[in-house]
Amino acid sequence: MIPSKFIWMNGSLVPWADANVHVMSHALHYGSSVFEGMRCYDTPRGRVIFRLQAHLTRLLDSAKIYRMPVVYSFDELAAACRSVIIENDFKSAYIRPIVFFGTGSLAVTPPEDTPIEVVVGAIEWGTYLGEEGLQNGIDVCVSSWHRTTSASNPVLSKAGGHYLNSMLIAGEAQRNGYVEGIAVTAGGMISEGSAENLFLVKDGIVYTPPLAASILGGITRDAVIHLIRDLGLELRLEVLPRDLLYLADEIFLTGTAAEVTPIRSVDRIAVGKGSRGPMTEAIQNAFFGLFDGKTEDKHGWLDAVEV
Ligand code: PMP
Repeated sequence: MIPSKFIWMNGSLVPWADANVHVMSHALHYGSSVFEGMRCYDTPRGRVIFRLQAHLTRLLDSAKIYRMPVVYSFDELAAACRSVIIENDFKSAYIRPIVFFGTGSLAVTPPEDTPIEVVVGAIEWGTYLGEEGLQNGIDVCVSSWHRTTSASNPVLSKAGGHYLNSMLIAGEAQRNGYVEGIAVTAGGMISEGSAENLFLVKDGIVYTPPLAASILGGITRDAVIHLIRDLGLELRLEVLPRDLLYLADEIFLTGTAAEVTPIRSVDRIAVGKGSRGPMTEAIQNAFFGLFDGKTEDKHGWLDAVEV
C-alpha cells in the first residue's frame, strides 16, 4: 500500500503518519468495526465517487445493527470522502470509511462511554482480481468454508469481524492456486465470493442469489441488476444450488473492488467455453461505460467530487 498524504480522522485531516489508534482499541481485539469501500473514477465529467450516497447509507445501517452511534451527519461523512480525494490529489482512488469502537474497556460489550472513532482513508488501487481476469475470466473454487449466516452474524452489516470468514474463503482458494473462492450457505446454496456477489447466466437468463442466501447487499450488485434490466435482459433473484456453478453458460462476480469480473472455471470445470461470455461482456461494457461516458448515468449514481 502506498501511503497517501492525508487521512480524515474524527473530524479533521491528519498526515498519514499521525492517523494512529491505540493497541488496546476494542475493534482490534473483537473486530468491532463497520466499514465501506468505494471507488472514485476519473470520468469525462470530472472525478466522481460511484454511489457515494448508497455506500454511506450502508455504513450507517451497518453501524445501526451493531448499535454504534455515529456523531457525524451524512453530509459531513460525504464531505470527508470528497476531501480525501481532493487533498490527496487523487484522480481515481479506493476510499475506505471505517467506524469502530476505540479504547475504553476490554469488556466484550463496550460500555456506553467507549469512544466511537470515525476515519476515512483513500489509496490508489487498480483492478482487484487482475487486469487479465477482467478480459479472460478468473479460475475459482467452491470454498470448504461456508458463508457466515444471519443466524450467527448480521451479514447485511459490513462489519470488520465478518471478514475473518472472507479471509478463510479467499486464503484457502489462493493457497490452492485459484484466484477466488465461492462460499455456499450451510444448506449448500450459492452465496457469494469472499468480497463479491455472484451472477450466473443459464439459457439466456441471468440469475443472482437473493439476500436470503447470506450475501452482503452489494451496491455493485444493485447497479448491475439495474443495468441488466436496462439492457433488456431477464434477471431472476433465486436461491441457486451449487451444481449450477458447473452447468452455467457464464458466471461473473461484482463488487467495488472486483467491479465486474468474469469467471472462466469453477473447481477446474470450464464455465461455458472457458472464457468470458457475450452477456458478461455486454454487462461489463454497460458498467465500465458509466465511467468513460458511453453509458448514460440515468440512475444518478455518479457523485461529483467537486461540488
Ligand atoms: N460481498 C462481500 C462479502 C463484500 O465484502 C463485498 C464488497 N463490499 C461485496 C459482496 C460487494 O459489495 P459492493 O458491490 O457493495 O462492493
